[in-house]
Amino acid sequence: MERDTTIFELIAEERERQTEGLELIASENFVSDQVMEAMGSVLTNKYAEGYPGKRYYGGCEVVDKVEDVARDRAKALFGAEYVNVQPHSGSQANAAVYLAVLKPGDKIMGFDLSHGGHLTHGSPVNFSGKTYQTCFYGVKKETGIIDYDMVREVAHAEKPQLIICGASAYSRDIDYATFREIADEVGAFLLADVSHPAGLIAKGILNDPMPHCHFVTTTTHKTLRGPRGGMIMMGSDFDNPMGLKTPKGEIKKMSAILDGAVFPGTQGGPLEHVIAAKAVAFGEALSDEFLHYIIQTKKNAAAMAAAFVKRGYDIISGGTDNHCMLIDLRNKNVTGKLAENALVKAQITVNKNMVPFDDKSPFVTSGIRVGTAAITTRGLVESDMDKVVELIDRVIMDPENEENLDAVAAEVHDMMSERPLFA
Ligand code: PLP
Repeated sequence: MERDTTIFELIAEERERQTEGLELIASENFVSDQVMEAMGSVLTNKYAEGYPGKRYYGGCEVVDKVEDVARDRAKALFGAEYVNVQPHSGSQANAAVYLAVLKPGDKIMGFDLSHGGHLTHGSPVNFSGKTYQTCFYGVKKETGIIDYDMVREVAHAEKPQLIICGASAYSRDIDYATFREIADEVGAFLLADVSHPAGLIAKGILNDPMPHCHFVTTTTHKTLRGPRGGMIMMGSDFDNPMGLKTPKGEIKKMSAILDGAVFPGTQGGPLEHVIAAKAVAFGEALSDEFLHYIIQTKKNAAAMAAAFVKRGYDIISGGTDNHCMLIDLRNKNVTGKLAENALVKAQITVNKNMVPFDDKSPFVTSGIRVGTAAITTRGLVESDMDKVVELIDRVIMDPENEENLDAVAAEVHDMMSERPLFA
């Protein structure tokens, strides 16, 4: 077969874009060579519907071992009692939890999308908002921090069967114990979707959801620095779900229900090459090296937030406890859309994002979201953050001046092109 130059030239182009640019999308990262190698391995050839030891296909002896290693490493990393590493994505992981514990028409309560929540937490354009009734909580206008009184009030008024905590654009830690108290008061299940801060949680530098939440879902490709994918976990405390409507609340029974909700409930054959790459990434995440990486990611985010505040930017909640922050650009008279487009021209990638109490549409938005997981993997440290923010500021202050954008792009290129993707 002839080499497919069309696609491989495009891949080379994308490699160049990633190498030369400043990657500030909070949900992205750069995986190690061995994670990449596992993803591009012969495991992609294998069908393995089912679970280790109970497959619907022959020849699964090797992939059974791979999946067992992935599960064991994830359990060690998060202190989980149950893990399912098969969800193809974070959305699939959430879909499987919903399928496991809800009936169509039941009610879920999530974090308002425009305040930092995710589409799968009940948005009307997503399966979650189409299949289930929804209600939402948000942040306090004055502080930008989750309004726990509102969480309690909405939960008592709406009586959801499932409460979801966790976010796509929220820079503060989450009080899982209070969420659990509220869930118990109304007899709801509690799901923590830790897709964004998973790496920080794994290394113990943010609150641990595992003792408080019935279910924990995550993506594996953000701060966890693995391949694109999802995962579902339960902690050992699941045995005592306070009289909830589970089959006696036993973790074994719930494990079987969750496994069935992933396959055959919402997926077919698992991606064993991706599961192998998840296992490699979990192995890396168990190391002290990863602890240093995560600490640096958090320090970089704090330094970046301080540099933005120094230049008069309005960071929602005034700072960050994790790897990301949401910036309201209204006081700079620039929309999120214009900022995103101008920054991309200057080789700086961010995404436009709604901010709490936004007056613009999701296609325009008043803000941008930035994160430090990817640039920390490239080897940037706190002392680089002022320069990064200066470059962003130069773009935002003059976003339609092509000469300005070209000049910033040249500086970004100088700063990044010598740094390996995985430093
Ligand atoms: N949950 C949260 C909180 C997320 O931020 C995301 C992705 O951005 C997801 C779920 C969905 O993950 P995926 O894009 O892998 O479906």
